[in-house]
Amino acid sequence: PMLRVALMGLGSYAERVAKAMQQCKHAKVTALISGTPSKLDKWGATYGVPEESRYNYQNFDRIKDNPNVDAVYVITPNALHREHVIRAAKAGKHVICEKPLAISVQEGQDMLDACAAAGVQLLVGYRMRFEPNTLAVVKKRMAGEFGAIRFFQGQCGFVAGDPNQWRLDKALAGGGSLMDIGIYAINGARYMVGEEPIWVTAQETKTDPVKFREGVDETIQFQLGFPSGAIASCLSSYNIDFLDRYFLSGEKDFAEMQPSTGYGPIKGRTKAGDLKQPHVVHQTVQMDEMAQILLQNKKPLLPVDGKVGLQDLQIIEAIYRACETGERQTLQLRA
Ligand code: NAD
Repeated sequence: PMLRVALMGLGSYAERVAKAMQQCKHAKVTALISGTPSKLDKWGATYGVPEESRYNYQNFDRIKDNPNVDAVYVITPNALHREHVIRAAKAGKHVICEKPLAISVQEGQDMLDACAAAGVQLLVGYRMRFEPNTLAVVKKRMAGEFGAIRFFQGQCGFVAGDPNQWRLDKALAGGGSLMDIGIYAINGARYMVGEEPIWVTAQETKTDPVKFREGVDETIQFQLGFPSGAIASCLSSYNIDFLDRYFLSGEKDFAEMQPSTGYGPIKGRTKAGDLKQPHVVHQTVQMDEMAQILLQNKKPLLPVDGKVGLQDLQIIEAIYRACETGERQTLQLRA
């Protein structure tokens, strides 16, 4: 069976997803939601979406009555995810939501609750959780080939250009680099170490308070502690370029990945040499896998359900609190 997907928010990432989905075997675009009529016309023609399956933000609740849609993929700015996901769930559709799931734990919990109440599934667009070289390292760790994990380093950042973009507007972004790109270091720490963090410390540096206004973090360094005693040291930045690295160290082996979360090819090595999985378009694989999760109850090696996204938000809030207070924060992730 094919997962029939409505894309919401026809911006730059949605375009990448739409193009990638043209190669999917299990998913296809069957509806569009946008506030810009000309985009609906253009995308409708390009992706073969008929007029009756094109919606705007006022009328998309009517998607409830569209039998050609199984899931809505929300790809709007972070602060809009909550409303968009809840409306899609109330329309009886499964929801795939881009990262970060929301801009606070409270919002994320509201979204999980709404999806549960509507009896629909909620997934987060964590594409790296389907990337073959990443999974090769995770499988190696699960097989015990690294021995006990002692350390993870995740460095994620780039120089945010245009000062007027929504990513630098707290009202739409919910925060700064941590919400947008540092979340990859958080997420990576969890699946690379294979445990959930129990404490966090963090420090913020701001060199440009004009570009990075109140509530929009420029650079944050944070440290995570895990039950086994493993530790992680991470860097999230909107002002440091070429930060796209993971390093995992165990008692028997290491993995080094760079690039580690970009659109690929993902490259890396362990003691045995280079990671050798073929490059795939992340969004194609993600959507084919998500189709099987939603329609056939497939269990992925690394989960991508709403709970994972909510737990990342718990860690994000703890990091912000640690920056503000200078104090170590204890964490207990929601089950
Ligand atoms: P973008 O600015 O290119 O696109 C956002 C879209 O939302 C635009 O088409 C815009 O018109 C629309 N929109 C609807 N209502 C809006 C409003 N009130 N204000 C502003 N825009 C509104 O941004 P993007 O880079 O496509 O990011 C969208 C989402 O996708 C974000 O949550 C982002 O974190 C996520 N994203 C994920 C990845 C990934 O690799 N998984 C990559 C990029 C972006």
